[in-house]
Amino acid sequence: MELCDRNASELAGLLRKGEINSREITESVLKRIDEKEKDINSFVTTTPEMALAQAEMADKIFRKRGEVSPLTGIPIAIKDILCTQGIKTTCGSNILSNFIPTYNATAIEKILEQGAVIIGKTNMDEFGMGSSTENSIIGPTHNPVNTELVSGGSSGGSAAAVASGECVLALGTDTGGSIRQPSSFCGTAGMKPTYGRVSRYGLISYASSLDQIGPIARSVEDCAMLLNCICGHDRLDSTSADVEKPDFLQSLDKDLKGVKIGLPKEYFIEGLDPAIKNNVMNAVGKLEEAGADIIEVSLPHTKYAVSTYYLIATAEASSNLARYDGVRYGFRSDEEISDSLMMYEDTRSKGFGREVKRRIMLGTYVLSAGYYDAYYLKAQKVRNLIRQDFDNAFKSVDCMITPSSPCLPFKLGEKMNNPLQMYLVDIYTVSLNLSGLPGMSINCGTVNSLPVGMQIIGKPFDEEMILTVAHAWEKMRSG
Ligand code: GLN
Repeated sequence: MELCDRNASELAGLLRKGEINSREITESVLKRIDEKEKDINSFVTTTPEMALAQAEMADKIFRKRGEVSPLTGIPIAIKDILCTQGIKTTCGSNILSNFIPTYNATAIEKILEQGAVIIGKTNMDEFGMGSSTENSIIGPTHNPVNTELVSGGSSGGSAAAVASGECVLALGTDTGGSIRQPSSFCGTAGMKPTYGRVSRYGLISYASSLDQIGPIARSVEDCAMLLNCICGHDRLDSTSADVEKPDFLQSLDKDLKGVKIGLPKEYFIEGLDPAIKNNVMNAVGKLEEAGADIIEVSLPHTKYAVSTYYLIATAEASSNLARYDGVRYGFRSDEEISDSLMMYEDTRSKGFGREVKRRIMLGTYVLSAGYYDAYYLKAQKVRNLIRQDFDNAFKSVDCMITPSSPCLPFKLGEKMNNPLQMYLVDIYTVSLNLSGLPGMSINCGTVNSLPVGMQIIGKPFDEEMILTVAHAWEKMRSG
């Protein structure tokens, strides 16, 4: 097995023993990118020179044998929605195609402080809007398992890069499923932490009340390692939570005995591919054998989740995206234009893609004076009901298990002309964002060689329970 295919935890061990160095790992990753990138298209930008310089620095730290963090010298890919100082950050959009941030997102500062190696910026649906990484200015990211299929989205570039060995770890963001769904499609492990767990400072906003940054990796332990590094209170983000920061690695080997796992009955209904259901139920059965109690629960407002999400997300997006006007940063139309209104118009017409425009129109509509009460306010009320469903269900269980996606990875282009069908792919993930809850997708098997993801949902700020269950399953799967 090549170095780029090994887990971060294993590489960290080898680095400590001095058996390998970070330069070798970084070179192995860069070689894999050279071999695979033309077929997969995971990256908007790669930063080989900077990565090798960072690897050199990491190796110096190892030679000094000081206090070394587990991420030191490990190559990480970053979704192109997180601001990286001096590195182009496009959000997959023409409107930011020339944007070079002057500062780092807090999560980036943290991984750099720990001596990690940034390998590049990954492809995504424009501004995070999509479920297939097809809405990107650089074209789609292909699924490494089968390149005729989508990688999922919107963090498809990050998930595909992790799955193909083009990096060891990656950061994604999740507004309605964008870490969990591509993880399901590419067979990686990906976690959306509780809202407020990871600072959003420097994360380019799509829908601010839903957005979260999280880890994507090839193992649960690697996810825990990266989460340890990026979480924590940050005064630069007013919604960042000032809560205790556990060592997530400590939760991995806890016992499953007596852990109550809920199965929300509304998540196992028509529309779910029966083969996916079988895989998830098989994993649930194994967890039961290992000592967990399985309990059926009900989340009665689930049927409103997708509509509620697409009202709230588009409303917030239409407001957040108002800042791209060609004046302050990013692309500006170079037409001969006589007044500023025309300049805004032409810049936005040429700068945004179709899906983003669709959402700006939808969002502006639901916030408009005549429709605010009927749509936006109503959606906020239903959002509360959805959150209350979880509060009630969590009175009797410690976590819940559902499929991550109702379908397997689909063909490139298959849903591009049917936005509603594309939106329905998010049916199992959006409720967590609406409720601020943590959730993880982990592989639970394959159907026709395609990966199937299982979602584990936790109580607010109880990522530890999710990691315990996910790790228990992972051990059973590989053992
Ligand atoms: N697919 C969902 C959307 O298009 C979620 C995207 C995300 O989580 N960024 O809004």
